[in-house]
Amino acid sequence: MALRMSTLFLRTLREDPADAELPGHKLLVRAGYVRRVAPGIYTWLPLGMKVLAKVEGIIREEMEQIGSQEVRFPALLPREPYDLTGRWNEYGPNLFRLQDRKDADLLLGPTHEEMFALAVRDAYSSYKDLPLSLFQIQNKYRDEARPRAGILRGREFIMKDSYSFDIDQAGLQKSYDSHREAYIRIFQRLGFEYVIVQADSGAMGGSASEEFLAVSPHGEDTFVRDESGYAANVEAVVVPQAAEVEVTAGPAHVEDTPDTPTIETLVAALNAKHPRDDGRAWTAADTLKNVIVMLEHPDGVREPLAIGLPGDRDVDPKRLEVKVQPAEVVPFEEKDFAANPSLAKGYIGPGVLGADNASGIRYLLDPSVARGSAWVTGADEHGRHVIDLVHGRDFEADGTIQAANIREGDLSPSGHGTLSLARGIEMGHIFQLGTKYAEALGLKVLDENGKLVTVTMGSYGVGVTRAVGVIAEDNVDDIGLIWPREVAPADVHVVATGKDESVFLQADEIVHGLEAQGLEVLYDDRRKVSPGVKFKDSELIGVPTILVLGRGLADGVVELKDRRSGERREVAVGDAVAEVL
Ligand code: ATP
Ligand code: MG
Ligand code: MG
Ligand code: MG
Repeated sequence: MALRMSTLFLRTLREDPADAELPGHKLLVRAGYVRRVAPGIYTWLPLGMKVLAKVEGIIREEMEQIGSQEVRFPALLPREPYDLTGRWNEYGPNLFRLQDRKDADLLLGPTHEEMFALAVRDAYSSYKDLPLSLFQIQNKYRDEARPRAGILRGREFIMKDSYSFDIDQAGLQKSYDSHREAYIRIFQRLGFEYVIVQADSGAMGGSASEEFLAVSPHGEDTFVRDESGYAANVEAVVVPQAAEVEVTAGPAHVEDTPDTPTIETLVAALNAKHPRDDGRAWTAADTLKNVIVMLEHPDGVREPLAIGLPGDRDVDPKRLEVKVQPAEVVPFEEKDFAANPSLAKGYIGPGVLGADNASGIRYLLDPSVARGSAWVTGADEHGRHVIDLVHGRDFEADGTIQAANIREGDLSPSGHGTLSLARGIEMGHIFQLGTKYAEALGLKVLDENGKLVTVTMGSYGVGVTRAVGVIAEDNVDDIGLIWPREVAPADVHVVATGKDESVFLQADEIVHGLEAQGLEVLYDDRRKVSPGVKFKDSELIGVPTILVLGRGLADGVVELKDRRSGERREVAVGDAVAEVL
């Protein structure tokens, strides 16, 4: 049935909503697709529901295509399973926790590994039952710190999540690969430019976890790529140490000598011992980014002298002397850095920890990104300053490293050329979970030999509401949205203009003709609205093809307008249906 604008629950807005930042978000609100209820919480209006249904439909089709079966778990969940996996606590403030009238703890599901694992545990007992893949399309709840850009980062949002269950790693790999293929088809059909990036720092070429990022300047994720096809979320990049050099050209025994190893010394050593593959000589800039230098202390202890912070470039090389401190590696939890300022001289090396005494913030550098280069602001016990790690620039309060630590032009871990940086929005995430959840929840089956084995799982997510947001951001111009046909709220927008009732009668017929061909029609049949308003609305709403019926009907012609190109042409009434097809 055509959506008739005369009765459609829709009020378009001429003004941008005050709370919207991005163009697509503004237009989704103005054109009446969604409406904000509270930060990160949105109502979907009739036009929005149409688009959402299209996106869900594509995802559902592709999931069914790989043999995944649809289920739906509740969003309101008991605490116990999340205690068993540790996530009741680990999830932190992002988890919505609540209590029922008997004071029992409940949560609103942020993702459903636990529930799927339990359901399979309760139903299945043999390897013969596997493999299995289940999916759902359902609301998720996360109390995001910065619900942002409307539906891109909601606190209530729709996710397609699926889970695979296999008897062994080979099976998991197969399930993972078929999900990967399905995701490629989904994101191609949704029509946006995307990259598949490594999402964790597993072995090179490994694919234990990958993300599908929509390439977008509005993205919150930063990814790197090189010319060889390697791509990774910066969170997952291990920038290679180009070489490990022992400084013999300069003083290796720092405390023995009045001299200090200068950057020039290090570069010279590097060029002498580890010429670059590409034939170019190492420069101080390369050295600063990609080299670990080993230093040997008088007592024979060797340790890496790391250089690599962005700030190093501005630093007097002589200060390298100050950096040569024994590494003090202690478990993150065990030290109170605020009470031990001397630790703030902190050194270095993957997995290093330290503190920003000024702010009292403690942090642990993720080994995968620290690449042996971390310094903490503040004085050491000799009153010397060491190089700053700047809170907010280099790391966040929760210890996350900022993309600033990886730079355009860093050597690629693939060994092919250098890295370039771009921004993306995480649209999908596929993940070989392994046995972690199955172990915690006792999901085991009997194998061929009658032995109990733990099932191995994969988990796979697509942001459904986020996808609508990304498509909107990607498909706008100054006057409105421009939906790709496959996700548009209708195939064609029929605009009947004028006061003459016969126009509406002919329009009714054309609408029927279009529908008879299986097309979905948005029909502006409003009698008391001016043509100007109707045209503005049609441009704002963004159905890709607009069919205007008006004065021309007397001469047997209608106007066909392509929303994206703006191209208009007249076609004979009798050809209108065929032209739209
Ligand atoms: P992000 O890095 O953007 O916070 P995530 O890594 O926390 O996402 P996952 O747990 O991997 O997200 O969830 C699977 C998918 O769900 C994501 O790839 C994304 O498309 C979507 N998603 C996650 N959080 C949100 C949100 N707050 N609003 C809308 N979609 C989301
Ligand atoms: Mg998140
Ligand atoms: Mg993420
Ligand atoms: Mg993710």
